[in-house]
This record gives sequence, C-alpha cells and structure tokens, in this order.
Amino acid sequence: MTIDPQKLDRLAEVAVRTGLNIQEGQDLILTASTAALPLVRRVVAHAYKAGAGVVTPILSDDEVTLARFENASDQSFDKAAGWLFEGMGQAFKDGAARMAIKADNPMLLAGQDPDIVGRVSKASSIAAKPAMDPVVGMEVNWNIIAYPTPEWAAMVFPDLEPDAAQGALMDAIFAASRVAGDDPVQNWADHTVELKKRVDWLNDHAFTALHYAGPGTDLMLGLADGHIWKGGATLGKNGVVFQPNIPTEEVFTCPHAFKVDGTVSSTKPLAHNGTVIDGIQVRFEAGRIVDATATSGEEVLRKLMATDDGASRIGEVALVPHSSPISQSGLLYYNTLFDENAASHIALGQCYADTIEGGGTLSPEELKQRGGNGSIIHVDWMIGSGQIDIDGVGADGSRTPVMRAGEWAS
Ligand code: ZN
Ligand code: ZN
Repeated sequence: MTIDPQKLDRLAEVAVRTGLNIQEGQDLILTASTAALPLVRRVVAHAYKAGAGVVTPILSDDEVTLARFENASDQSFDKAAGWLFEGMGQAFKDGAARMAIKADNPMLLAGQDPDIVGRVSKASSIAAKPAMDPVVGMEVNWNIIAYPTPEWAAMVFPDLEPDAAQGALMDAIFAASRVAGDDPVQNWADHTVELKKRVDWLNDHAFTALHYAGPGTDLMLGLADGHIWKGGATLGKNGVVFQPNIPTEEVFTCPHAFKVDGTVSSTKPLAHNGTVIDGIQVRFEAGRIVDATATSGEEVLRKLMATDDGASRIGEVALVPHSSPISQSGLLYYNTLFDENAASHIALGQCYADTIEGGGTLSPEELKQRGGNGSIIHVDWMIGSGQIDIDGVGADGSRTPVMRAGEWAS
C-alpha cells in the first residue's frame, strides 16, 4: 500500500465535516471514479458517522469511458443520460448535498478525435444542467476533493516508480489540502479568516475594473455591476456554511462579460478533457475573445470557445498569490482543482450568480445586463505568476495596487 490509510481517512473526514458540513439526516450524492474507491469508502463512512441520511455513490470508470469512444456508433456521441441528471436535480431540490471526488487520468482521451470529445462533452454539459444549476447557484452544500490515480501520479512525478509516484501525489494533495498539521479543522478555520480579510478589502474598494500587466499580458478586465468578491467558506441557500473546494486559495468574483479588453497569456498548462492546452494567448474586444492561439491543444481550445455564445467570454476572475502553498510546491498537477489554486485565473463561460448582488433572484436577462456571463461551460485557466502586476481601477479612474509581482500589495 503506497497510500497511507490514516491520511486518506483524515482527508475524508475534513471533506465531510469542514468541506461539506453535512447535516443530520441530509442525503448525499457522491460522484467518483472507480479508481478512487478507497477514498469513496472512507467518505461514505464519515458521512454516516456525521449523521447523513442516504449516501448514493455514482461511479464512473476510465475503461468504460474509453469503451464508448472506441466502440459506439456515431449517433451515440450526441447523447447523455439526462434521466440521471434530472434525478440528481430532484435529490438536490429535496435537500441532498453533493460531493465529487476527482480521480482523473488527465490524458485519458488524448488519443480520441477532438471533434467527438467535444460532442460528448457538449451533450453531457447540456443534459447535466438540472444537476449543475443547484450547485453553481449554491442552493446546496457541495465539495470537491481529489484522489491520486496511477496515471495522474505518473504525469506529476514522471521520474518516480508508479507506487512511489502515487504516494508522492497523495502527500502533495494532503499538504495542498491543509490537512497535514495536528488540527486540520483549526487550520481551515484560520485559513478561512485570512481569505475573508482579502475578500472584505476588495469589496470595500469596489473597483470597477482590474488591470493586469506582465509578459504577454496587458488586460483591462471590467467587473460586473454589483459584483461581490467571495472566498473560503460559503453560505449556501439552504443555510449551511461549507467549503466548496479542498484545496482553496482563491478569492473570486464576476467579471463584466462585455467589458474586457486587451491581451492575456496563460501561465500554466490547462488539462481539459484529456488534452493539455498550453501557451494560450488571447485578445479580448468588448468582452469577447476575438483572437486565440495556443502552442498545444489549440484545436480543443477553439472547439471549447465555440460551444455556445458565452463560451468565448469570461464568467469568473480569481486572485491567488504566487506564494500559495500549491504554487510553492512547484508542481504542475494537470488538474484544475489544484492548478487554479496555484495562480490567479479567469474562467471561460458561466458566472457564479452569487458573485453578483441579488444574483440568485435575477433572471438570466437581468444577470446579463449587469455583466454576468451565461454558458454551459465553465473552464478555468491560469494567468497569474510571480511576474504579474494587478491594479484596481476605481470608478473615477484612480488606480490602487492590488498585486505586485504576484503577491498581495498590502
Ligand atoms: Zn476559481
Ligand atoms: Zn472556476
């Protein structure tokens, strides 16, 4: 056994108690890969110990996924199991919580036709709406954690033997998830206070835009009208305080989907649906990406941006200091849950309604008027590094340093 069972158990406990904060009698829907079964079993045990009602794991499997790509007829690739997502949506309406354990093989679909990968991904995103909306809208408490698969570990630690690599990735996940100390629950409480301070400072300044300057980047990024900065713990509409992502280092808000201008370059590769997209450079005009190149994975990036109207605009802007523990680990995880917490980032696609004042009650049309973007995708990519300066731009055009060389300026 290369993965320490005690550490695995602590990660499960922190995810259930601090991450999800599952309530007495609350049901839980848990999605995971069969590769993550050791962690699935610990999560289920801790959920029941914490008083969960019924825990329903929904498992996927890499070989099953490949079996479809390699054997299905063409008509299969525009279909998705809508009934399953509708059932999940119903469970959330009835009060269930949601957990996802990410145990991806980042290169699983690397050998598949990007066009088919795009079609499958689009069909699934459309069908998943009833299950995604309550999560994106923070109607239920939810949490995402990760489990190291051998394939993933081999990408992060290419020089280690398979067993050692998996153990090393577990240790890295454990450290990044702030569960390494004696009292992980207290660690998380302290970390939450720090994030809250940044959130309050940004909300007090109420900038109308952020200006990014650095290598290959000169970007004026407008913020949505009535945007709200968030970070760390979240209050769900069901009244439960939870930590959506473990790990989390970001403070984030809603950009203005029609007021982003200039150029920006990615600072880390983005692993998306089995393809690594690297060296992204895009130019925005009035919020839309009008020019996009990548040194690898450019075709996948283009397909992604063509998904729908909102897929070539952004719905999230997040700030992460270069000194974050994940950044300092120097590792590239090929996994957005980790890599997005190593660097400031933006996301193509759907905005989080709760990052706009009263967002949960606005119609899609009203949300759009404030600058909130709508799309069936939400894909984060990293634009921060130790070489980026960010200014906050006030309504009067005044500038306040927000970050200098990738660190908080004050
Ligand atoms: Zn983010
Ligand atoms: Zn995001």
